[in-house]
Amino acid sequence: MAIPPSYIQELTARNDIYDVVSRYVSLKRAGRLYKGLCPFHNERSPSFMIYPETQSYYCFGCGAGGDVIKFVMEMNSLSYIEAIRFLAQSCGMPMPEEDDGAAKVKSRVLQMNKLAAQFFYRSLNSDAGRNARKYLRDRQLSDKTIVNFGLGYADAGWQSLTDYLKGKGFSEDEMVSAYLAARGKNGRVYDIFRDRVMFPIIDLRGNVIAFGGRIMGDASGPKYLNSSDTPVFKKSNGLFALNLAKKSGKDTFILAEGYMDVIAMHQAGFNNAVATLGTALTQQQVKLISDYAKRVVISYDSDEAGQKATRRAMELFSKAEVSVRVLQMNGAKDPDEFIKKYGRQRFQMLIDQSDSALDFNLSKLKSQYDISNPEQRVEYLTKACDILATLNNAIRQDVYCTRLANETGTDKAAIKLQLERARSKKRRIQNYQKEKELLKNPLTRNVKADWRQKESTVQKTFAQQQIVCAILRNNSLYDVVKNRLTAKNFTDGDMRAVYTACQDLLESGQAADYSVLAHSLPQQAAQTLAGIFARNADIIITEKDVLMHIENLLTAKLSQREAGEKSVEEIARRIELLKGKKK
Ligand SMILES: [Zn+2]
Repeated sequence: MAIPPSYIQELTARNDIYDVVSRYVSLKRAGRLYKGLCPFHNERSPSFMIYPETQSYYCFGCGAGGDVIKFVMEMNSLSYIEAIRFLAQSCGMPMPEEDDGAAKVKSRVLQMNKLAAQFFYRSLNSDAGRNARKYLRDRQLSDKTIVNFGLGYADAGWQSLTDYLKGKGFSEDEMVSAYLAARGKNGRVYDIFRDRVMFPIIDLRGNVIAFGGRIMGDASGPKYLNSSDTPVFKKSNGLFALNLAKKSGKDTFILAEGYMDVIAMHQAGFNNAVATLGTALTQQQVKLISDYAKRVVISYDSDEAGQKATRRAMELFSKAEVSVRVLQMNGAKDPDEFIKKYGRQRFQMLIDQSDSALDFNLSKLKSQYDISNPEQRVEYLTKACDILATLNNAIRQDVYCTRLANETGTDKAAIKLQLERARSKKRRIQNYQKEKELLKNPLTRNVKADWRQKESTVQKTFAQQQIVCAILRNNSLYDVVKNRLTAKNFTDGDMRAVYTACQDLLESGQAADYSVLAHSLPQQAAQTLAGIFARNADIIITEKDVLMHIENLLTAKLSQREAGEKSVEEIARRIELLKGKKK
């Protein structure tokens, strides 16, 4: 659906990028800019920047960039139209007349999911579901729990659900897009979930957005099968039982690894348990949890893999506004088994006694050393200081130094000295990693290098980037450019797209600014453009500069086709390829 540029302009004018982003990211002023920790990748020092002048954002760490609409899309997993509606609502603007294709698709998928969940539920209670019922009973699930979670059974047939949904008027393509059916080599569709106990995943509005299917007994195939991403579901930001945990009204959530753990916990009265959906924890899920809970108790499996996942999860939570505790289980491999063996009271005790993340790490560490041995004691203290160095709070650091001193009979001053060393080591590592991240990003890689000494491609691309940046920030410079260049001179595909779009707007008497352009351009070009604004935030591009860039662009030596490639590496690869063809 095409939304008129004038509408976008008004919408973006009413939704200042700083105001919108600061609802999600805590931003600090840095000159004319703002910076904060990037919400799209993990980082400890901020490389995510807001540019009020161009109303754009850009992350020097991961290259994410765009305007306010793109930000809202990415942050909330919304489609373009949904993001516009979101922003329109938040500033009280009516939506333009719309024919929203994406919303229609979503509502069809939700309808199918709902029918499928009912179908699976009926099937569980039919003859075909006898084994599945036995399986759930063996796992000691009550009828109430089964109803509460809407559990079901997908029978062993290859066309059971597809036939049913066809009868309800859904097309094969629709079923495939909902990840309820797949298309075989012969072109026929078949049920993805077969002979499995089914766990519907329900969002906060009560919609069935996906399914997890668990195999019973020793049947072949993967133990768990989960919906992949569909128009209504993204694995990386869904949580199983979040709907129920939110309803519990508790401000602590228990985070578990599997569906069965969550269900067992709910049945035992811990109705604040949630789980990820067959994937490792992501930053989006951490954000989701911290939206609804103040504390989280990680209760993963007690085996090696579970402990590793625990450490990873703690790392992710350490940046969120939620306090983390870790449940230490002995005598059972997971919460489900623990509750069955020892009962709910003992599990409640585990939760009450759960360690803070720091205590967890320190006690894990201590268990590896014999601190009566002087050498091992030194090693333990050195590693413990490495852990303490990650704390941002000096008072807490001091408290732990005292504790370590008492525990090992070591002089506290010596421990503090070691902590200082650990902190400066950590800073060095951080700086090194930041530099490495910057080098990985093609855009910043070009900036760091002296472009004049690089291949003329980089020079040409750079010149084109500076020219379009100058025009977008000051439309009057277009007159300088249009007399000397045509769109054909823009050899970089993205920059040509940007220039052509500017041309169209300016020639028809409209203003060309980023907020309008970002939506007529291909995504990649819009993102690159955000990066260019970022790079030039503190640089004034004068008319004289523009003339110099035009000169550079017209005199650089490579052929247009070669120069159209993005990086020196790509050209090298291309030349290799051509050589190979000639032989
Ligand atoms: Zn980033």
